[in-house]
This record gives sequence, structure tokens and C-alpha cells, in this order.
Amino acid sequence: MQTMKLSNGIAIPSVGYGTWQSPDSEITVTGVKAAVSCGYRHIDAAAIYGNEVSVGKGIAACGIPREDLFITSKVWNADRGYDQTLAAFEKTLSDLGLDYLDLYLIHWPAASHRFKRWEEINLSTWQAMTELYKAGKIRAIGVSNFKPHHLAALMKTEVQPQVNQIEFHPGFLQEDTVRYCRENGILVEAWSPLGTGRMLSNPELQEIARHYGKSAAQVCIRWCLQHEALPLPKSVTPSRIQENIDVFDFEISTADMKSIDLMDNFGGSGLDPDKVLF
Ligand code: NDP
Repeated sequence: MQTMKLSNGIAIPSVGYGTWQSPDSEITVTGVKAAVSCGYRHIDAAAIYGNEVSVGKGIAACGIPREDLFITSKVWNADRGYDQTLAAFEKTLSDLGLDYLDLYLIHWPAASHRFKRWEEINLSTWQAMTELYKAGKIRAIGVSNFKPHHLAALMKTEVQPQVNQIEFHPGFLQEDTVRYCRENGILVEAWSPLGTGRMLSNPELQEIARHYGKSAAQVCIRWCLQHEALPLPKSVTPSRIQENIDVFDFEISTADMKSIDLMDNFGGSGLDPDKVLF
């Protein structure tokens, strides 16, 4: 598995295994084990997915030493604030059965449409994450779904975010946020690289994929990598888990990259951090 580098020097495996909507059951335990046996070393979890116990069982049973895995989780919106974040972190560690995380993210920013003191809330959450980072309980800290105006206050603190995990797939490039992250040394991770599957029936993507002897899913994942956005494909289906990591033996041409870049937004989630009601 190739790696990318975070601003604090830590290596992060270039494709992560997504776990949103994976059930809290044996299906997810098996999915995590299958992913590791296919070569994934990076697992993207979150408290709100309600399946961290199953993800943790998969990690425990996967047969790979803990230090060779890269495990991410996220603090949910209901747990924003200093004390709540510390407590949420302990619950996640216990559910996953781990004693440290590789990466911990603020799942969504507190934003002005819902909170008068939104910036203060984000800063107090960030303070807790910074302390956990400095205590060695997390190897890297970051955010998710933050736009530049949400990130600005965090950039002036003692430890700056190392990752921003955002929606990123053909038709949804979030260019302003990606540019801001690049300029500030923040790695962009791509959530829903397949548009939660909605990308895959697109005839244009299918045609490009045929040209490379690959699937539309592999083209979406490869397209993220060539944009230096770290893709997090999710599947609980063993053949797809394997397919989604077989993306290092081809390169999308500049012309095809451009065609994909110019596609309309045909499969986005429609979620805007400045409008969501959760
Ligand atoms: P993806 O874009 O990865 O698509 C997953 C869907 O596509 C599933 O239904 C899966 O089905 C199907 N699928 C996967 N691979 C293939 C394939 N090769 N061929 C055909 N179908 C396929 O979905 P997500 O929206 O889950 O995003 C990925 C990850 O990003 C999440 O799991 C989560 O970790 C993260 N995320 C983070 C968010 C955030 O706010 N930070 C928000 C949303 C996602 P099946 O499983 O049945 O095989």
C-alpha cells in the first residue's frame, strides 16, 4: 500500500476502508478482516456510524500488528466542546478496543446557521483534541466538512489540522476548500468517492473505465488519487473490497482527468456544512 504524508511527518496509507452504513454486526467484522487481507491498512470509522464495536472486532481479528494499521475516528456533533470531546474519545477507544488512534477528526463544524458562538465551540473541541494529541493518544488530528471560513480560527492555534475529510468525487470538486487545504499543508481525504454508489451507473465514467480495462469504481478512486485526495471507498462485499484497492496499476490520462473534472454534479449528497440540521 502506497502512503501519503501528513504535515507532522506521519505516513498515511493512500486508500482507506470506509465504514459508514456498515452494520454493527458480523458483516462489518468480516468486511474489516477482508479489507486487511486484501492489503488495506487504513480504516475510516466514526462514533456516529454506531458500529465501532464491530470495526474493533475486525481489527482485533485481522492478524496484523496494531502499529501497521492506521485507524481514524471522529467526534460527533452532539459531543462538541472540551469535556464532551474528551469523553467521546474515551468511548470510541473503548468501543474500538484500542489504546490510541492514528487520526481523530471533528466530524462536522459548528456553523453560524445554528450557533451564535460557533467559532468558540469549534475551538474548545479543538483544544481537547490538541491535548489528546500532545499526550500521545492520537498521532494526528484534523477536521471533516470544514470550509476555509471554518478552518481559519483553528489555523491560529498551537497545533493546526493535518487532515480535512470532505465530500469529493466526479462532479463535486470543492475547489476553494481543496486549494485552501493545499496552501496550508492539510491533506484532503475524499468521502463518498463513489458518491455512495451513485457514480457507478454514469455512462461517461463507464466508457472511460472500459478504455482502461477497469471499473467505474476504480476510475473514481484513481481519479481521487491523481488529485492527491485520499479516497475512502466503502464496501462490505469481498469482491468490491478487492476491486477498490486494485487502483495502482494504471494511470488516467490528462485528457480523461479533465473530462471527469468537467462532469456535472450528478451524484452529490447535497449536504452543505453551513446548512445541515444535524
Ligand atoms: P462510497 O462512495 O464509497 O460508496 C459505497 C457504496 O457503493 C456502497 O453501497 C457499496 O456497496 C457500493 N460499492 C462499493 N464499491 C463498489 C464497487 N466496486 N462496485 C459497485 N458498487 C460498489 O460510499 P460512502 O458514502 O460510504 O463513503 C465512503 C466512506 O467515506 C464512508 O464509508 C465513510 O467512512 C466516509 N464518509 C465520511 C463522511 C463525513 O462526513 N466525514 C460522510 C460520508 C462518508 P456494498 O457495501 O454493498 O458493497
